[in-house]
Amino acid sequence: MVNPKRKEDDPVGKQVPEQDAGPLTTATDVVRTADLWKLFKLGDEVVKALRGVTVSVRPGEFVCVMGPSGSGKSTLLHLLGGLERPTKGTIELLGQPYAGLTESQLSLLRHQTIGFIFQSFNLIPLLTAVENVELPLMFDDADPGQVKADCRELLTRVGLEHRLDHVPAKMSGGEQQRVAIARALIGGPDLLLADEPTANLDRSNGAAIIRLLTELNHERGMTTVVSTHDASVAEHASRVIEMRDGKVIADSGVVEPDGHGAGSAR
Ligand code: ADP
Ligand code: MG
Repeated sequence: MVNPKRKEDDPVGKQVPEQDAGPLTTATDVVRTADLWKLFKLGDEVVKALRGVTVSVRPGEFVCVMGPSGSGKSTLLHLLGGLERPTKGTIELLGQPYAGLTESQLSLLRHQTIGFIFQSFNLIPLLTAVENVELPLMFDDADPGQVKADCRELLTRVGLEHRLDHVPAKMSGGEQQRVAIARALIGGPDLLLADEPTANLDRSNGAAIIRLLTELNHERGMTTVVSTHDASVAEHASRVIEMRDGKVIADSGVVEPDGHGAGSAR
């Protein structure tokens, strides 16, 4: 697997702590927040999308963030992934606080450690499945032949060996989301963030995508955070975090002072 973390001549990369040595390896959580607030100004109105969210995700967890529309799920995932900055509070990825990073450092850290999957797939219409999966590595100095081989292997793993050279318009929604999953995994991320990945799919395609994500979680120990308002997704999660009105109202994975979890769905 091509690993963009191994790049040596990246000018920005030198300012971000190394993945393979140093403080990041001692962190026990993949991502951690403390008292996270996010306010949006809409004209004269202030929307409190997040109101003091403190969560930490441990390596290998499959976390389901549940909550009705407007409860703050997307905002939380965007902040966890460094796509947006919080109004208040801190976020650390593998022990690295986002706050001290410039936009380009944050963008590089995101590129090296996080895979995103969105509700609307977000594929490039003119590119084939293989080309879409290749895209994140386009500016890395990886061996193009190896990248292509890795893309084909990943697409085969997600069940698309017969769709390698198809463009998105020639694929079903479920197939397009599989391409998006392969694209999210191509850089070998430490954290996979999926924001309502089944919302645009019918029930059986949605269930198949969730099954695939749980298999990848088991096979690769891929730390995964999936947001949804579909209660059936929670059945597959090792941990469920429930949100309402920008707050966490329940978390089955909180470790009690006696060292036992509050309960697990698995
Ligand atoms: P969910 O994903 O659970 O549906 P969101 O995180 O998208 O919830 O939204 C939480 C709240 O923040 C909602 O009231 C939403 O309207 C508001 N919100 C989200 N993003 C923005 C934005 N960019 N500008 C203004 N308000 C926003
Ligand atoms: Mg949302």
